[in-house]
Amino acid sequence: MSDKKMPTRPGIPECSNYLLTGNCDLKECKYHHPMNTTPIESGLALNNKGLPLRPNQTVCPNFSRFGLCKSGQACKFDHSSSSGSKL
Ligand SMILES: [Zn+2]
Ligand SMILES: [Zn+2]
Repeated sequence: MSDKKMPTRPGIPECSNYLLTGNCDLKECKYHHPMNTTPIESGLALNNKGLPLRPNQTVCPNFSRFGLCKSGQACKFDHSSSSGSKL
């Protein structure tokens, strides 16, 4: 786990490298690196509410309880809709 801090530059376009991989190798990148953005994972499974399915993770407490999640695709938890209410 690297603990590198990428420069956050609000108002500047987001670094495409960082958005894709969650990392940026450039030492002094001039683009914005938002802290709370997770990399766009190719093939990320989403449930019918657009929340990530992560079968290996714990079920999201918010989703489990309320059927929704403010974190959206950035949430690290599982959002399988098997036990939730259906649309
Ligand atoms: Zn960058
Ligand atoms: Zn969640």
